[in-house]
Amino acid sequence: MFKRILIANRGEIAVRVIRACRELGIETVAVYSAADANALHRKLATRSVCIGPAKAADSYLNQTAILAAAVESGCEAIHPGYGFLSENDEFADLCAQCGLKFIGPSGEVIRKMGNKAAARALMQQAGVPVVPGSDGVLESPEQALALSEQIGYPVMIKASAGGGGRGMRRVFSPEELPAAYTAAKAEAEACFGNGELYLEKLILSPRHIEFQILADRQGHVVHLGERDCSIQRRNQKLMEESPSRALTAELRERMGQDAVRAAACCGYEGAGTIEFVLDGQGNYYFIEMNTRIQVEHPVTEMVTGRDLVREQLRIAAGLPLSFTQQEVCLMGHAIEVRVNAEDPARDFAPAPGRTEFVHFPGGCGVRVDSALYNGYETSPYYDSMVAKLIVHAPTRLAAIRRMRRVLEEFILEGYPTGAPLAHLILYHPDYLRGEYDTGFLERNLDQLLGWLREGSRPAEQEAKE
Ligand code: ADP
Ligand code: ADP
Ligand code: MG
Repeated sequence: MFKRILIANRGEIAVRVIRACRELGIETVAVYSAADANALHRKLATRSVCIGPAKAADSYLNQTAILAAAVESGCEAIHPGYGFLSENDEFADLCAQCGLKFIGPSGEVIRKMGNKAAARALMQQAGVPVVPGSDGVLESPEQALALSEQIGYPVMIKASAGGGGRGMRRVFSPEELPAAYTAAKAEAEACFGNGELYLEKLILSPRHIEFQILADRQGHVVHLGERDCSIQRRNQKLMEESPSRALTAELRERMGQDAVRAAACCGYEGAGTIEFVLDGQGNYYFIEMNTRIQVEHPVTEMVTGRDLVREQLRIAAGLPLSFTQQEVCLMGHAIEVRVNAEDPARDFAPAPGRTEFVHFPGGCGVRVDSALYNGYETSPYYDSMVAKLIVHAPTRLAAIRRMRRVLEEFILEGYPTGAPLAHLILYHPDYLRGEYDTGFLERNLDQLLGWLREGSRPAEQEAKE
């Protein structure tokens, strides 16, 4: 096992990685920007190195500064977390060139799967169903029009380098296409420095179902079941749960096998996620692979009892997976709520500020992943997520009840968050029945915001266990 690693990230995920390292006896080197001098990850690491000014481009994305910090402090490996450099193939290559183990797949594998248009082609070859759409990247709006005519509207124009729900546009008619094409391209160039686009049929009212996979260097690939991430705002996840109400045991088996095949066919190593959309008829389609640990990984850890970051570290150190597919069993139900510093009543405007007081819930079956503490000033420079609240209970209804209690117990003073909105979602009849798709929030937002304003909520409905 490694003696010392560098964590190229900040916030709750940096803290999450530090925790796994401590339990394995690994020393940690934190990196931080000038804006993060008081950040928790810095305080919890064995030591820390400043890597530049506040702007992410000059600090958490500053590859030279991070590599220099790792080499100078005698680290053997770098954990990239999520976001930032986690899916950067060039950075993975550079780590290898500096004699550092990048904790994740090789640069070559990231190149294969990170380009979403290219990954589609690879999946088709492997026999994994993909959404009908373009073969590779689009060359012009005219080509997009011709293709859309062929596959039928509505369609979705998406950025090949996309992530975080950005660079995608829905198109319902040929008249809308040219403007959507231009907008998606501009957003992709601005967000990812890469304007390449591809096209997919828009699956109507789908669920977002993703499978967690782990692959070691000995060639073992396993899946750890699914997460239902259909509660989304603007294609960004807000709440996740496992298992999904939409899957039968038979469908889980088939999708899990496809997820394993998807990872195996690209020579994958480490933790990864195969994302699918599932339509109302039980048809599922691959949409992308995330070649890193995900924000919502704790729900999988709760239902499987496995520590995914520990497995990442073991795999990177060359050890085999510590369990087999047969040993993976899903127990009970887990739900995660992402708490973002934003104001739902003001169109979810980011709301950074000083944390005047924070109290985290606790008790049976509760987990909080956060880098907040009393007096901590959140930064406008980075992601607005300040905490993840996770619960685990024997049944879905018990997990919902527990999450309501957790959100009632959670106190955060200093700035608004989406927590009260999440609390209301847990009372919505469709959510209670488990009958929701990726359009749930958009469809119900006005009603939910109305309840929020009035401080009311729908009469309690008894959901079935
Ligand atoms: P997950 O599938 O793990 O929920 P998200 O899409 O929410 O992933 O992204 C996780 C984090 O990484 C978010 O902070 C998001 O802003 C950031 N992120 C995702 N993709 C990219 C990207 N291509 N470039 C920069 N940041 C990204
Ligand atoms: P990102 O890289 O930003 O995470 P994804 O390709 O994973 O992008 O898509 C994000 C979300 O957008 C999905 O969870 C789903 O809600 C929606 N989406 C993506 N592709 C389609 C599609 N072809 N049809 C319907 N919804 C889609
Ligand atoms: Mg995605």
